[in-house]
Amino acid sequence: MSVTDLAPITDLRVNGERLWQALMELAKIGATPKGGVCRLALTELDRQGRDYFVAQAKAAGCTIRIDAVGNIFARRAGRNNDLPAVMTGSHIDTQPTGGKFDGNYGVLAGIEVLHTLNDAGIVTEAPLEVVVWTNEEGSRFVPVMMGSGAFIGEFKTDFILEQKDRDGISVGDALKSIGYAGTDTISPKNVGAYFEAHIEQGPVLEAHEITIGVVTGALGQRWFDVVITGSEAHAGPTPMALRQDALLAASHMVQLVNQTALDHAPNARGTVGMLDNYPNSRNVIPGTVKMSVDFRADSDEILSKMVETLHAKAQDIAKKGKVKIDITQVVYFPPQAFAKELVSAVRNGAKNIGLSEMNVVSGAGHDAVYMARVAPTAMIFVPCKDGISHNEIEDAKPEHLEAGCNVLLHAMLERAGS
Ligand SMILES: [Zn+2]
Repeated sequence: MSVTDLAPITDLRVNGERLWQALMELAKIGATPKGGVCRLALTELDRQGRDYFVAQAKAAGCTIRIDAVGNIFARRAGRNNDLPAVMTGSHIDTQPTGGKFDGNYGVLAGIEVLHTLNDAGIVTEAPLEVVVWTNEEGSRFVPVMMGSGAFIGEFKTDFILEQKDRDGISVGDALKSIGYAGTDTISPKNVGAYFEAHIEQGPVLEAHEITIGVVTGALGQRWFDVVITGSEAHAGPTPMALRQDALLAASHMVQLVNQTALDHAPNARGTVGMLDNYPNSRNVIPGTVKMSVDFRADSDEILSKMVETLHAKAQDIAKKGKVKIDITQVVYFPPQAFAKELVSAVRNGAKNIGLSEMNVVSGAGHDAVYMARVAPTAMIFVPCKDGISHNEIEDAKPEHLEAGCNVLLHAMLERAGS
């Protein structure tokens, strides 16, 4: 075959059927009667899932390395192995009533990319790696996103190994018992780029009938405790004008939180999910309300504006209602923008294949959010049925999973050089 007989690399496509078969094969390990998967981190079932991944990776010609917290790195050599690797992956642990696709898709999509390159006889300039991160779900052991967090230095290895499940079994002992207590040291400096393909776990793509979500970043979060102090009084003798009704003020605060997020659409979120009304008695004007405020947005600038609005308008509400409103920040996670050049690689991949795409943001945590702190990172979302995840009925269409994998293939090729 002469060079001119070769199809252009832009025509290269993954084998969607093979990807689907691999997903269904892995889903058998820990399968639940309702069609989901229960494969908690570092259990015997997790060992079987890991063994399946390692066998697949070896069949694709990879060398395997395992670090001290059990992250598995499968490496396919490039032409220049001094270059940092172009990496992809996700997790294979699940929630107790988890689905077949959350995490598993990102890992097996990575393997399918390698099979496709092998079939086409393509060697990339930079090496490629597919990674399985330990305990992303945080169901059996906390903290969540344990493996990727340890990899980037957010958690010390010893701290992770000491964490115990409800039965008192430590991460370190669990790793040893399943044979995945590794000794390899892998530096984040060896990662040139990180891509993660994932089901959306939300309703946006399906609602817009779009196949590929180009994830531009993850929302930052600011959480507050709010205490509203009024004065308890009898519901009968106290005229309306003379009340200090804490719950009435709280109702205005709920409206304020909602409106503030709407004013910064489409990527701002504002939620009051928790509210305690005291004394919560039928004929007493409420004297104290404690409530939560959860603000999310894709930039610190917008988050700051939302918080300024919250403070300023809360003072108006307090004045009008003759109550006191105290607002205390309790949680802050910075927004994490993904790397522009990798986001472009994802969009180019979708466009060149002729797939519909739109920008989306991740409202949830992913291993990619940690990875973005140490390496250029981007994510690819595909729709899942009704936006449902962390549920045994979690579902995704084979053609969407195939499409996302094709985008991953071309984004990785763009970064690794073919
Ligand atoms: Zn996941």
